[in-house]
Amino acid sequence: MANNINLQVYHGVEATVNAYIFSDDQSIILVDCLRNSNEASKLAAQIKEMGKPLTHLFITHGHPDHYTGMNVIKNEFPDVRIVVNAPEIKADIINFSTWMESVGWLEGEPALKPKTDANPDGFDYEGNISILKRGKLILAEGAEIEAFSNYEPTECEHLTTLYSADLKAFFSNDFVYNGVHPWLAIDKQNIENWKNQLLEFANVLEKDLTIYPGHGKPADITVFEKQLKYINDFEATVAAAKSREEAMQKMQELYPDYTQADFLLVYSVNAFVAE
Ligand SMILES: [Zn+2]
Repeated sequence: MANNINLQVYHGVEATVNAYIFSDDQSIILVDCLRNSNEASKLAAQIKEMGKPLTHLFITHGHPDHYTGMNVIKNEFPDVRIVVNAPEIKADIINFSTWMESVGWLEGEPALKPKTDANPDGFDYEGNISILKRGKLILAEGAEIEAFSNYEPTECEHLTTLYSADLKAFFSNDFVYNGVHPWLAIDKQNIENWKNQLLEFANVLEKDLTIYPGHGKPADITVFEKQLKYINDFEATVAAAKSREEAMQKMQELYPDYTQADFLLVYSVNAFVAE
């Protein structure tokens, strides 16, 4: 018999990023926490209404659209444990926040500035984030969610996927952006790794799983091939384009319904097409 486990999907607005709320009758686990503190406050209010303790905030990877809400969640739920699946992911988060502060990206989220000797009131990433034991998140009544992060560098240096046998669900993290332009401002080798991993998911995973992406709506197993096609189209488009404008236009013609053209697609195109 399946264990007791419920899932709520919280679709964030900024970056069309998702947070996932797992619960049983006695506990809640949150996966990722949105791109800004304002949206994270709404997410926290929804969790409070459930009337059960939030035991863990699990961060899938070191990109700020998945962890910027961390300070809000920590303040609203002082007993929560913030966890990642590997020390490398903790390092990615610290490195990204340190870089963001250096270029002024944290002026709108000052509480996320890293704690240092010069800024003793900053966020204590080192002390607040711990490493998940045995690669499993476990709800109070026993349902398990398995975490995997032994992947080659792709959309991020280290991503984490999750699997729940009880829910027949695979959480593909940022290997999949469904109906959302993906972040492709990455090395060519990372793009190759990404395509290979998508093929493996398509071939290896059970066909009847629901796939919950890092960005965009849930889908079925065909979403991996859809993502692969997008990446191939992107590579062909930026290789042929004579200008950034031409590449932007072509990708939006091919994917007219996709969100984040003005943010994620701009960065991806600019990384590959000279001005
Ligand atoms: Zn993301």
